[in-house]
Amino acid sequence: MTQQPVALRCRALVKHFAQQPVVRGVSLVVPAGDILVLVGPSGCGKTTTLRLIAGFERLDGGTIEIDGRIVAEDDHHLPPERRRVGMVFQDYALFPHLTVGQNVGFALGKNQPDRDRISQLLTFVGLPGQDQKMPYELSGGEQQRVSLARALSTRPAVLLLDEPFSNLDAALRAGMRSEVRALLKSSGTTAVFVTHDQEEALLLGDHVGVIRDGQLEQIGTPEDIFHRPQTRFVAEFLGQTRFIAGYVVGDGISSALGHLSSRTTLPVGSVVEIAVRPDDVTFVADEEGNGRVLSRRFTGISYLYQIGLPNEITVQSLQPHEMRMEEGMTVRVYFTADASPPVFYHGHSV
Ligand code: ATP
Repeated sequence: MTQQPVALRCRALVKHFAQQPVVRGVSLVVPAGDILVLVGPSGCGKTTTLRLIAGFERLDGGTIEIDGRIVAEDDHHLPPERRRVGMVFQDYALFPHLTVGQNVGFALGKNQPDRDRISQLLTFVGLPGQDQKMPYELSGGEQQRVSLARALSTRPAVLLLDEPFSNLDAALRAGMRSEVRALLKSSGTTAVFVTHDQEEALLLGDHVGVIRDGQLEQIGTPEDIFHRPQTRFVAEFLGQTRFIAGYVVGDGISSALGHLSSRTTLPVGSVVEIAVRPDDVTFVADEEGNGRVLSRRFTGISYLYQIGLPNEITVQSLQPHEMRMEEGMTVRVYFTADASPPVFYHGHSV
């Protein structure tokens, strides 16, 4: 198997603001042509990490390497325009007094704008022949396409995108996500996105990095992050997770929702937490059951039920339309046959 070259390598990045650590030892590698999405709650340091890579902020520690060249380390700090990065911002940041074509060609040099390249870029982002329009004549989604075309114009080694879809309405956002991913893939562009939206992270990324409090809590494929979270924090951040208690027994883990086979090395009797997602749980009407239907919500393709268990614990269960249970019904709740939910001991995966 041939190894992909590395487009971006960050080693132990550190950044303080007013003596407060905001980025605390972030290390990551993005192979050329791949998309990394950094996701995490508000204020965790995602944007600052992106701005360090772009060169808008100076490092307090660590090394940034882009396309095999160190662009920041100790006192060495290349400015953004010399890093071979392109940037797409949440608010598009188009020049309002320039035409679409002038915006796209801005970084290509003012004196000799390359018309072919501009029209090729506009066609690429789905806006052929729109170069004479002004930004205010375009919708939000179209403006973001112009911003993408502008960022790609200089063929950056890494494209950096900070919440690029958050100003778009929900329907447009969903379409733009898959379209932009397809565009980046078809042009082989290496990209780093920042978002606080877990669904967006899983949809867009070849790799997803979950940031917590300035540190990279876990990085992996979307499937890895979702199905094999290494910490309780990652499990809680993704996938509408609820937690229930479990107890280590001889051949696995016992819980209010049934027995889980598990080869844990923890001593019998240890108390663990089981991360329960809506597709791990099912239920049937049963007057002697262990739960009660608290609510039913129509989500379009299925119903999402909230089920109350003893001790004020609730879990969620996703069910097809054919199954209609009413609020207040007593039910027996249990793990689906193929559920293998992540289990945590003191916050770490077991
Ligand atoms: P959000 O999703 O809300 O944008 P984020 O994860 O992108 O959050 P950052 O913007 O990186 O978070 O900010 C991390 C922390 O650093 C925050 O507490 C923020 O207030 C602080 N911070 C960011 N930029 C500066 C700055 N220039 N000066 C001082 N503090 C800053």
